[in-house]
Amino acid sequence: MKTETTVQGLAASLNPTRQARKLIGFVPTMGNLHEGHLNLVREARKLCDVVVVSIFVNPIQFGPNEDFENYPRTLVQDSQLLADAGCDILFAPSVEQMYGTQPRLTNITVGGMANDLCGASRQGHFDGVAVVVTKLFNMVQPNYAFFGEKDYQQVAVIRQLVQDLNIPLEIIAVPIVRADDGLALSSRNGYLTETQRSIAPSIYQNLQQAQQALQQGQALNDVLETIKTNLIQAGFEIDYVEARTPQLSAVNQFEQDTMLFVAAKLGTTRLIDNLFVKYMG
Ligand code: AMP
Repeated sequence: MKTETTVQGLAASLNPTRQARKLIGFVPTMGNLHEGHLNLVREARKLCDVVVVSIFVNPIQFGPNEDFENYPRTLVQDSQLLADAGCDILFAPSVEQMYGTQPRLTNITVGGMANDLCGASRQGHFDGVAVVVTKLFNMVQPNYAFFGEKDYQQVAVIRQLVQDLNIPLEIIAVPIVRADDGLALSSRNGYLTETQRSIAPSIYQNLQQAQQALQQGQALNDVLETIKTNLIQAGFEIDYVEARTPQLSAVNQFEQDTMLFVAAKLGTTRLIDNLFVKYMG
């Protein structure tokens, strides 16, 4: 595996691949890699000739009171995991390499569903994501880009971005990878104390109970309220517990396939999860 830290170096590394018209797969990450990330790499490996993974903790997608400074940076360990998972090129640029020294005067705001859920509670977050992902897409110019459904709304925002700006690549969404106890793997799980870690799986447990309750005919509002009550009782501070269509439109009743979304904090650690609920008619 090659590691590149500059845009020029990345271009030089990818040049022969482009000339040979080989398929490039791209997995953008913020590092501190776990099985969720590595699964994206393996999916890319299956479909593409050359797999590029980026590790970049993107300052502009963090709010002023969020964890940018403390976000776990474990490049040596990540590099080994990526080499073992079959990554060909690791792109790990500095903030200066990514954003230069001149002020950035261009922003990218996706409307509609980007203002909902995490977009409502994290002002400017998806602008920051849209900018960095567009820059990375232009640098790597992949044929396929792989994103996890753990960040379900992010996938929808990026699909919209790619469609609206005619970015010539295909987005592949990959299912959530969970720990044995159901907790969705996340770099932020490492912030949790032992006690918090033992409470954290109740997000997924509640989502599963909600799925069952909906399919047994319980009213959607009651089901969402039950999740909130249970999570507050378990020690969470709720950011949102919501239902949407798989395309992220509003739903009032369970009368079509529905996605359930939770964002909740344990102490200062914000966790998100989601679950698809099939409508059986
Ligand atoms: P991050 O490093 O948190 O920015 O995540 C990089 C990519 O990995 C994003 O596309 C995430 O959705 C994806 N990802 C993170 N955790 C998981 C998980 N548990 N299962 C599947 N994909 C994940």
